Amino acid sequence: MIKTQIPELKTLLSTPQDIVIVPHKNPDGDAMGSTLGLYHYLKAYNHKATVIAPNDYPDFLKWLPGDDAVLIFESNRDHCEALINKAQLIFTLDFNAFHRTGDMAVPLEQSSATKIMIDHHQQPDNYAKYTYSDVSMSSTCEMVFNFIEMLNDVEKINADIATCLYTGIMTDTGSFRFPSTTRRTHQVIGDLIKRGAKNSEIHNNIYDTNSYSRLQLLGRAMQNLKVIPELRTAYITLSQAELDEFNFKKGDTEGFVNYGLSLKDIIFAAIFIENEQDNIVKISLRSKGSFSVNEFSRAHFNGGGHTNAAGGRSEDNLQTTVEKFISILQQYKNELSQ
Ligand code: 5GP
Ligand code: MN
Repeated sequence: MIKTQIPELKTLLSTPQDIVIVPHKNPDGDAMGSTLGLYHYLKAYNHKATVIAPNDYPDFLKWLPGDDAVLIFESNRDHCEALINKAQLIFTLDFNAFHRTGDMAVPLEQSSATKIMIDHHQQPDNYAKYTYSDVSMSSTCEMVFNFIEMLNDVEKINADIATCLYTGIMTDTGSFRFPSTTRRTHQVIGDLIKRGAKNSEIHNNIYDTNSYSRLQLLGRAMQNLKVIPELRTAYITLSQAELDEFNFKKGDTEGFVNYGLSLKDIIFAAIFIENEQDNIVKISLRSKGSFSVNEFSRAHFNGGGHTNAAGGRSEDNLQTTVEKFISILQQYKNELSQ
C-alpha cells in the first residue's frame, strides 16, 4: 500500500460502512485470526462488518473471539451473496487471487465494492484499489497490526483484537521459529500480550486440544513417512481409507508435513492426502533454505504459496500423484542435493 493512500482510507473508514471480510478457502489460524482481528477493529468504528469464510474450518480455531458471528459461504450462499452484493468495502485477507476462495470467487469478482487486500503471498493479483502486499511478512496478522498502526490506531487494539492477531502470528510462524519471524514480529507479539493476548492460553487452545483419534492418525502418518536421502526429501501419504479409519475431521492433518522437515539433513517435505469427496489429492509442501516450494507447486501441482510453505493439488490418484512427484524430483537434483 502506498503511504499516500492511508489518509484516503482513514477518511473512507471514518463513517460506518457495509463491510465484508474474507479469508481464503480452508482457512487456517492466520486467515481466521486476521479476519476476526480486523472485524473487531472495524466494529469499534460502528461499521457493519461480517466475516464470510468460503468454507468451514477446524474446531481448534472455533474459540476465537467473534467466531460465533462468522458466516460460512458454502452453507449459507444466498445470505452471503446478498451481503457481498451490498458491501461498500471488501477486505480480502491472507490470499492473493480470488480463485483461492473457491466458489466465492464469482460473487467477489462481480461485486462493485472497493477492495482492500492485505496479504503476504507471492505474486498477488491486481484486483484491489488498496493493496498491502508484503511477502517478507511472517503473517497476515502481523500486517493487520501494521495496518492498524498506519491508521494511527494502535491504542484501539483491545484484548479481542490482540488475541486474534497473536493466534495467526503464532500459527503462521510455527510458534515463532520460521525464518520469517523477525525482531519486529516479537515486538508486535510483546505489544499484543500487553494489550490482553493470553499467550499460554492461546497456545493451549490451538495445540493442546487434540482428539485421541488425531494422534492415532499422526502415528499412521509417521509410519507412512518415506525418505529419499540423496534428494534430501521426505514425504507422507494418507489415503481416504486411512483417514476414515481414524475418524478424520477437518484440520486433523494440520502440521503433519512439518515432521518430514524435522529429519536431520532433510530440506524438502511433502504430504499427499487423498480426498475422495473432491476427487483430488491435496498436497502440502515445505522446505528449508532457498528451494522454492511455491515455484515447485506452481509448475507441477496447480498451487502456490510461499518460498518455504506451499500447497497444491492433483487430479491423479494417490499412487500416480506420488510417482509423478518422485519422477519430477529428479529435475531438481542439483538444487536438492547441495
Ligand atoms: P498448506 O500446505 O498449509 O495448505 O498451505 C501452505 C501455504 O500455501 C499457505 O500459505 C497457503 O495459503 C498456501 N496455499 C495452499 N494451497 C494453495 C494453493 O492451492 N494455491 C496457492 N496459491 N496457495 C496455496
Ligand atoms: Mn498466512
